[in-house]
Amino acid sequence: MSLLGDWFRKKEESTEKTSRQISFDILKTLRESAIIVGEDTQIIASNQQAYDDFARKNGALENKRLTEVIRDRAVHDGFLKALENNESSEVKFDFLFNEKRSFSAKITPIILEEKRHAIGVFYETTQIEHLERVRQEFLSNVSHELRTPLTSILAFVETLEDGAIDDKANNQRFLAVIRKNAERMHLLIDDIAELSLIESGQITIEPREIKLASLVDELFTNLSAKATARNVKLFHKISTEKKVWADKMRLEQVLTNLIDNAIKFNRENGSVTITCEEKDQTDLINVTDEGEGISSEHLPRIFERFYRTDRARSREIGGTGLGLAIVKHLARLHGGEVSVTSTLGQGSTFIIQLPQKTQENLS
Ligand code: ADP
Repeated sequence: MSLLGDWFRKKEESTEKTSRQISFDILKTLRESAIIVGEDTQIIASNQQAYDDFARKNGALENKRLTEVIRDRAVHDGFLKALENNESSEVKFDFLFNEKRSFSAKITPIILEEKRHAIGVFYETTQIEHLERVRQEFLSNVSHELRTPLTSILAFVETLEDGAIDDKANNQRFLAVIRKNAERMHLLIDDIAELSLIESGQITIEPREIKLASLVDELFTNLSAKATARNVKLFHKISTEKKVWADKMRLEQVLTNLIDNAIKFNRENGSVTITCEEKDQTDLINVTDEGEGISSEHLPRIFERFYRTDRARSREIGGTGLGLAIVKHLARLHGGEVSVTSTLGQGSTFIIQLPQKTQENLS
């Protein structure tokens, strides 16, 4: 062969080698998992993400058959289609190992060293699908929660229009029902707006040293009419000197929600007691009631949006089902947490944990 021919052959070889190398290099740069298989569906290359997603603790993916790694018919067929028919496809599948994860795979034929191969790029959709479910559920809850009072308002307006407006014995009662339902819608819309503001990260907190006892006294005054109406007594056992590190307005909101619930879900002649203790550089504010308590089946879900142990009762006593979700977010914005302990028939204690003032949270 001439020198020039030799040069061309070498150049081609080196170009081919480079193209294979480039493909492998591209795999490494992808955030998604990627796997390349040869004719016999044997894996010839994969990236770190594919190892993290699919390796199931049994070593590198290379040289394994695809079905040993991903046992899914649709994925296997997708790769065969690329290898045998030169066709691209998209496949959605679930991968079960410890937990269920969902993926969408784009499988495409590629030529490497003049041979047909197939590359699959796997995009994880678990989180997106979860968020989509949460969004759908939230929307359906919101429309349900708004529809119930609205239906009632429309029914009573119709009754009044049909003549009840002149019924002296009942017209004021009907108007009161309309007002109550309109107020419920108002509260709900306020809570939704508040929650969405908090969740979108648009709320910042400005912690200061706050005298807890005076704040609680103020809140007791605000809620005294409600407590008296239900024959519930409000107490606190907080020393006048005790200070906590929090955003005043937000802490007010948190405690108002918890005291309000403690009054609403209390028993006749019951009491609400607030105490504060210190533990591991945090302040624990406890709001304890003597109500019916919350069963262990409900406890883990109590801070979810719209979760209520008794939907009808909560509506009746004027709840939106969003109060505790708001409390949870606000506690977390302070770097703290909210938790609950409860004994059926005896009552519940909601605990707000707030980090104390330190050099770090001062900066
Ligand atoms: P709601 O507007 O219904 O009070 P929340 O988010 O504040 O909504 O509370 C959610 C649910 O948690 C309530 O409907 C009730 O079932 C339960 N709950 C909250 N606080 C208490 C409490 N102190 N005692 C018993 N159940 C409670």
